[in-house]
Amino acid sequence: MSELVKYPDVFLRTKSNEVKFPLDDRTARLTKWMIKMMYQNHGIGLAAIQVGYQNRIFVMDCTRAGDNAKIFINPIIVGHSDESLTDFEGCLSAPGKRGEVKRYLRITLKYQDEKGEEHQKTFYNMEARCIQHEMDHLEGRLCIDYENGEYSREKNKSQTMVESDFRAKSDS
Ligand SMILES: [Zn+2]
Repeated sequence: MSELVKYPDVFLRTKSNEVKFPLDDRTARLTKWMIKMMYQNHGIGLAAIQVGYQNRIFVMDCTRAGDNAKIFINPIIVGHSDESLTDFEGCLSAPGKRGEVKRYLRITLKYQDEKGEEHQKTFYNMEARCIQHEMDHLEGRLCIDYENGEYSREKNKSQTMVESDFRAKSDS
């Protein structure tokens, strides 16, 4: 069984690619695997990059019931509220760390399901925050890059230096 990809692994900084339909077997299996890994690690969301795949896919279940996971493929945020809220966020890929992140309270998401069918849905509060967190993963961003609510390029840069150092060590 594979582990989650964790900070400071630079793989988390890579941008994920659009998924083509119909899904191939490997990608179909990946979505099931992601749900399993999300529950196993007691997360409410998980992006493919966190299990080692550069696919624009994330799964989410904010109910914590453990049986209501939804799969989002090629998601795009097409609308959001004016209001936002700054709060602390953690990430399964950065255990013990957290970022103070400003997120929209409401977002409208366009995405595809496993069959490739398009959906558009509006999400609020916790789900909206979770989706914005997972969307960041698809772009290679992490919640720990934020400072006082805002995305910090400086913080990202200093962390990327830590990450290159980590890579140099694990390569040697
Ligand atoms: Zn995360």
